[in-house]
Amino acid sequence: MNIDPEEQECEVEPLYDFDEIARGIRLLCAPTQVYEIRALGVYRAGTVSGYFDADSRKAMVDGCADVSGEAEGVYVTLNPVIPSLLARAVNRLREFTKHTTGDAEIAERRWLPLDFDPVRPAGISSTDGEHEAALAKARECRKHLLSLGFAKQSLVLADSGNGAHLLCRIELPNDDVARDLVKSCIDAVATKFSDEVVKVDRTTYNAARIWKVPGTLACKGDHTDDRPHRLARLVSVPKKIEPASVDLLRELAQFAPQVALPASRAIWTGTAKSFDLEAWLAAHEVPVSSPKPKDGGRIWVFPVCPWNPQHTNGSAFVMQRADGPIAAGCHHNGCQGKGWRELRALYERTSQVDASAARPAWLATASPAIRKKFEEAIRTQNNN
Ligand SMILES: [Zn+2]
Repeated sequence: MNIDPEEQECEVEPLYDFDEIARGIRLLCAPTQVYEIRALGVYRAGTVSGYFDADSRKAMVDGCADVSGEAEGVYVTLNPVIPSLLARAVNRLREFTKHTTGDAEIAERRWLPLDFDPVRPAGISSTDGEHEAALAKARECRKHLLSLGFAKQSLVLADSGNGAHLLCRIELPNDDVARDLVKSCIDAVATKFSDEVVKVDRTTYNAARIWKVPGTLACKGDHTDDRPHRLARLVSVPKKIEPASVDLLRELAQFAPQVALPASRAIWTGTAKSFDLEAWLAAHEVPVSSPKPKDGGRIWVFPVCPWNPQHTNGSAFVMQRADGPIAAGCHHNGCQGKGWRELRALYERTSQVDASAARPAWLATASPAIRKKFEEAIRTQNNN
């Protein structure tokens, strides 16, 4: 029987690429840590999940290959999990899993995940055109990050099967400050690169985020000529991986939209045009960056949040609309409830305390000698 070799190639699709899975696991997983492998929508097995320690990477790769092609997708936790989770399924995959990794069960953050997803109806694979558009966007984003000072050694580009993945190696603890920083970085990228064709997923900031395993098959919907199932693969991997500095991440985070606040947090105060916010900021030496135009008015950003010095990603702001009203706040949850009233009280109280405690009213009418003595006493007190 004569089989056209080209036709045969179309019919036979590998369900996985073992070497690529091994390469992906080696790249993504810290050598000494525990990770969860999770396969979603496995035929007659639901969610399949298992935990693998450092000595069982081979079992991990085998497990991924086993379920690839039977699951909608095969994933690994991007960040290592706390070792005690291993007891849920020790170095093996279990069917119909009830417990998977939660955000509080992550040991540390090792990757900033950027997911470029072609816009299409849910539950289907992308067309070649959509797939290419997503990869082009991710490449564009990679260039942009390099231009901001990110090193090539920090960035990994991958084909997710339907779209593109760009990962930036980071080293952060698993806490709220790191979560907010990662979220702001993703928001910054999404604001710049999302369009009608490709969207950057803004929800990938959670610590327990799972990520497509390279070398496994992405099987959303049925495999058709138009919308084929594809193997996920690594596209561009530096020889040696180096984490990006926190300063660099903060720089990127500055580009996150500053005013995408829940309505409750942007409380506009006052209606009079007469309050000169710029003069007030100058008079109280409020440490803000120079103003930028915002919705017809102006916004000033705090490099360091006035309510929590740990918030240094440009999350705190004060702004004034062209018609007068002022709003202030900080995007961090811990700063909820802080507004213009609180900001004003913070600076005006500080200056009042100085004026009243350090310079009592009688000083104005006291003799020069007494005044000098008083100033000396204050200086000594401040130096102690
Ligand atoms: Zn804050």
